[in-house]
Amino acid sequence: MDLHSGAPFWLVRNGLGAAHPVLSHDEHCDVAIIGAGVTGALVADALTALGQDVVLIDRRDAGLGSTCASTALLQYEIDVELAPLIARVGASAAVRAYQLGIEAIDDVERLVDTMRDRCGFARRESTYLASTRSDAKRLTSEAALRQRHGFDAEFWERDRVRDTYGFPAHGAIRSRQGAEVDALQFTTRLLERALSRGARLYARTLVVDYAARTAGVTLHTSRGHRVTAGRVVFAPGYESPPGVADELVTLTSSFALVTEPVETFGPWADRCLVWESARPYTYMRSTPDGRILIGGVDLPFRDATLRDVMLPAQTRKLAKRLHRLLPSVTAPVAFSWAGTFGQTADGLPYIGANPAFQHGLFALGYGGNGITFSVIAARIIRDLVSGTPNGDAEIFRFDR
Ligand SMILES: Cc1cc2nc3c(=O)[nH]c(=O)nc-3n(C[C@H](O)[C@H](O)[C@H](O)COP(=O)(O)OP(=O)(O)OC[C@H]3O[C@@H](n4cnc5c(N)ncnc54)[C@H](O)[C@@H]3O)c2cc1C
Repeated sequence: MDLHSGAPFWLVRNGLGAAHPVLSHDEHCDVAIIGAGVTGALVADALTALGQDVVLIDRRDAGLGSTCASTALLQYEIDVELAPLIARVGASAAVRAYQLGIEAIDDVERLVDTMRDRCGFARRESTYLASTRSDAKRLTSEAALRQRHGFDAEFWERDRVRDTYGFPAHGAIRSRQGAEVDALQFTTRLLERALSRGARLYARTLVVDYAARTAGVTLHTSRGHRVTAGRVVFAPGYESPPGVADELVTLTSSFALVTEPVETFGPWADRCLVWESARPYTYMRSTPDGRILIGGVDLPFRDATLRDVMLPAQTRKLAKRLHRLLPSVTAPVAFSWAGTFGQTADGLPYIGANPAFQHGLFALGYGGNGITFSVIAARIIRDLVSGTPNGDAEIFRFDR
């Protein structure tokens, strides 16, 4: 998260971030949203635009879950390549899921265009490096497949990648459609707008229980208050209620570092988004104030204490990877961190109704494209709430 660029949108006062109150009374609304990260904020923005009365509740301060840990590369290409995705879910759902990623990036741009700043949004091309010779072979046909389905993707041979950037890769898929954003600033602006339309946001308030009634739901908080609502949207990031996503998602830890501003990006002059075909993969982008953000070296657990112990070693690994990608760039590490990351078997998120939660709608945007999935979820949930048919909802349903 970049605390230093542009206007001070996020200030710590008296040890607190944005000073949203705790819930200290009972509330009533059309839609209650559990979670005020980027997903909850997008849903709140979409629903308040429809005139819905919305209450958001977060156990932390707004945006301080995985949203503030995000490196926020915005990509239409998901963790599962198009060819295996077609094999899993069929051509029409797979291609539509990729197209929705492109539409989500356009949606983010449209949203930041209506805000008082653009939240660090910038369009970037994306370079998906082939980590091995055999991956390069696979990516050649993957690029051709994407082209056949109308995506602006091209395979670059190893020499072209090396001549352009010096990256030690065996080739790459180059895509025009990509972008970056400051996820926390974007979330803050969305929440400001939802609050200006009458939404209420309660921070440091844990929802501990959910009870469905005929006409809606009652949420109980750890502070003993209740929220009654016609519907509830679950946007809890990687902290789903027990039984909802346990078997659908694998939770891991991802690590990231940001450098001090660099004098030059060397051969990486266009500052394209970079990621790779190895799993777990390294991902990299730049920031508007001239830093480099690089993440990856994921570990297969989510224990926060163990993660903190591993942070120095994983930071060193990331710094080495950065040096391998850009040996001519001097980039001292400014800060590093770790966060939970989730992966589903088909790389797609889970969005919509879950039979175990009457009047509940879920927005679980797992995967490296969590933020574009959040945008897709907000669209679908807006339509489910307003009763507007949305053919895309099928692709992300729980029982797919
Ligand atoms: C290191 C890292 C790098 C990433 N990089 C990218 C990237 O480059 N591009 C990309 O698209 N995505 C990326 N992601 C993923 C992306 O950050 C997430 O998908 C996204 O932030 C999820 O947002 P969210 O609002 O759904 O969840 P969160 O931001 O985690 O918000 C959920 C909120 O719900 C609250 N909550 C949970 N349970 C309760 C409860 N019972 N009561 C009250 N509140 C509750 C939590 O406190 C939390 O604030 C990255 C993630 C990590 C960790």
